[in-house]
Amino acid sequence: MTERLSGKAAVVTGGGRGIGEGVAVALARAGAVVCVCARTEAEVRRVAGEIRAGGGRAWALPCDVTDPESVRGMVEAASERLRRIDILVNNAGAASSAPLAKITLEEWNRIMAVNATGTFLCTQAALPGMVERGWGRVVNVASVAARTGARYVAAYTAAKHAVLGFTRSVAAEVAASGVTVNAVCPGYVDTEMTVESIDRIVEKTGMSRDEATTALLQTTPQKRLIEVAEVAYSVVSLCDADAKGVNGQALVLDGGKLLA
Ligand code: NDP
Repeated sequence: MTERLSGKAAVVTGGGRGIGEGVAVALARAGAVVCVCARTEAEVRRVAGEIRAGGGRAWALPCDVTDPESVRGMVEAASERLRRIDILVNNAGAASSAPLAKITLEEWNRIMAVNATGTFLCTQAALPGMVERGWGRVVNVASVAARTGARYVAAYTAAKHAVLGFTRSVAAEVAASGVTVNAVCPGYVDTEMTVESIDRIVEKTGMSRDEATTALLQTTPQKRLIEVAEVAYSVVSLCDADAKGVNGQALVLDGGKLLA
């Protein structure tokens, strides 16, 4: 898919590490100029710097996707630097786990804000320009948690279901405009977020790290974590010009656990 996105301008939220970093790098390799956004300035600067060092084009734009002012400022700055936004990857997210009785309202609101409200705010700000120009790609990084339920992840699951419902409805709204809106739904990916999930298993069960990792991998059909590059590949594919018929879809990357 070399240079298939040449001339396109992309914004990746949560681009400072993990999946977002991989997506930003992959979009740049495909020829797009990329704005890398997250709250931690040092991380977005590092990722943008590495893209530039590799011959790509990138800007670092610190942004908190839960804050409407911050999102407005980021979209304005990105539109100014890139002259437009053709591709928006709503990847910023956070996970947590607790039995229902122990989920505080504060924690519920935090998880909804970053995963669901952030996706809403960034999409609402970036979409009008895409619709006006008749071309655009929005890819929301949801999760398998958008397609199924599990113990102790009610807040995260509700937030990711919200992301998928939002994806489908906005896809319907812009279907005739040349813009597509899709979601990718990975299982456990090899990032810090999964390291934290393993830490929580260790903390709650008293298992060793190795035992907790084995227990987590046993729940996956391929007995492995999904690589960041696999998610990035799917996101870039959905951004391709030839993906224009794919709209409102949820692409599951979990090695074959969820089969419907
Ligand atoms: P990481 O924790 O490694 O990275 C999360 C990124 O989101 C960071 O760059 C972080 O930067 C950014 N972020 C968090 N809060 C905000 C905020 N309020 N505003 C802007 N940026 C924010 O997570 P992953 O890379 O693993 O996850 C990325 C996405 O993929 C998430 O949406 C997650 O739910 C989803 N996902 C992850 C899976 C996994 O197993 N890892 C599986 C399925 C889906 P900073 O803190 O500096 O703002």
